[in-house]
Amino acid sequence: MSKEVSLEDIVSLCKRRGFIYQGSEVYGGLAGTWDYGPLGVQLKRNVMNLWWKTFVDDREDMYGVDAAILMNQKVWQASGHTDTFTDPLVECNNCQSRFRADHLEGDTCPTCGQKDTFGEPRQFNMMFETHVGPTASEEARSYLRPETAQGIFTNFKHVVDSFYPDLPFGIAQQGKAFRNEISPRDFVFRSREFEQMEVEYFVHPDTWEQAFEQWRIDIKAFLNNLGLPEDKLHELEVPEDERAHYSKRTIDFEFDYPHKRDELLGLAYRTDFDLKNIEKASGKKMDYTVKGTNERFVPHVIEPSFGVERALMAVLVSAYQQDEVNGEQRSYLKLPHHLAPVRVAVSPLLKNKEELVKKAREVYDLLKKQFGNVMWDDNGNIGKRYRRQDEIGTPHCVVIDFDTLEDSTVTIRNRDTTEQERVAISELTDKLS
Ligand code: ATP
Repeated sequence: MSKEVSLEDIVSLCKRRGFIYQGSEVYGGLAGTWDYGPLGVQLKRNVMNLWWKTFVDDREDMYGVDAAILMNQKVWQASGHTDTFTDPLVECNNCQSRFRADHLEGDTCPTCGQKDTFGEPRQFNMMFETHVGPTASEEARSYLRPETAQGIFTNFKHVVDSFYPDLPFGIAQQGKAFRNEISPRDFVFRSREFEQMEVEYFVHPDTWEQAFEQWRIDIKAFLNNLGLPEDKLHELEVPEDERAHYSKRTIDFEFDYPHKRDELLGLAYRTDFDLKNIEKASGKKMDYTVKGTNERFVPHVIEPSFGVERALMAVLVSAYQQDEVNGEQRSYLKLPHHLAPVRVAVSPLLKNKEELVKKAREVYDLLKKQFGNVMWDDNGNIGKRYRRQDEIGTPHCVVIDFDTLEDSTVTIRNRDTTEQERVAISELTDKLS
């Protein structure tokens, strides 16, 4: 029986095997920032590319954009972020540590252990402020975007004018977002710099319920494709008093993370709140005319909002397995093949036998052409290579040995079953596909 994976298991695997490192670690780190290593960046891209393929490339009704991270400060005034994008902050009067009030349990300070030392909560704005250009004046004030959504809304009219899409249609964006979280924690789950994948799906106001239901289905199919088990996923219907004031319905998709059940992504009906705010603040019309009619209105919006890091963490937690092979403990990542950062590893049985290395190089080149993310691995003995590839989730290892030189067959070793099979090189790409 596999034990439940702990946060520590994931953090340590990610560091040891080159997935994710603490940001600026060499200088003592910078809280809430993370750097992706060679395998982490590949896994992250695989997740993001799958999302883009699912929700943009494979659909007719979606348009992609990539807006600037720095935006005119009026964007954030109109959206309400300047005034209300806040979390309640409390300070311990004994040790001056600061905490998010709604994350505290009880009245004891987690840092110094003193009781009843918290001051009154005050509202803390989470946007990172900066100035654009050489003067630090009020007019030059800008922010690192705290969400990608506003870069979509501000391009709504551009997309309509260039493409005349029929309603309903969506605009999608992936990219960095920044929030000065009071206490970043739980590995990459709550970071200060992270990535979002968001869609604003524009609908006729009468059809929002239908579109919302379809998004629920589409989101579940995508999460399934990420390899997340259904019993770890939960839909939380957010009650009215906890929803943003403009939202008529919100579902949080939660996942059983090692730290607790927590929000993976949100699905919200945002009405015409954002486009109407842009109209008011910019004086420009954000309405849509139904083709061939005089019907004009400001579309309503359904917003599925995914966090890349939270998806990635759910993928790692779901894939992490432990078992026993030949009396030895092993841990491995049972990643879906389309997400694995290394699709196939190729090894010569011995690295100091020239004929083996030469033949293995031929096989490597062949597979590299077919699959792209193929790793050459001649480090340590074959058992060690298998363990290492298991730990990073490589579905198959291909080994070239002395028999290969005689009969042009290789060994394919399967990550999940650890079984080995002899296959002709001529059939290798088919077999692995
Ligand atoms: P939370 O309540 O956990 O702070 P939120 O409800 O404020 O999250 P949204 O504003 O709805 O989050 O952002 C949409 C998505 O962006 C979230 O579902 C999550 O996946 C991701 N996200 C938000 N904040 C962070 C963060 N600090 N680190 C990583 N991902 C985040």
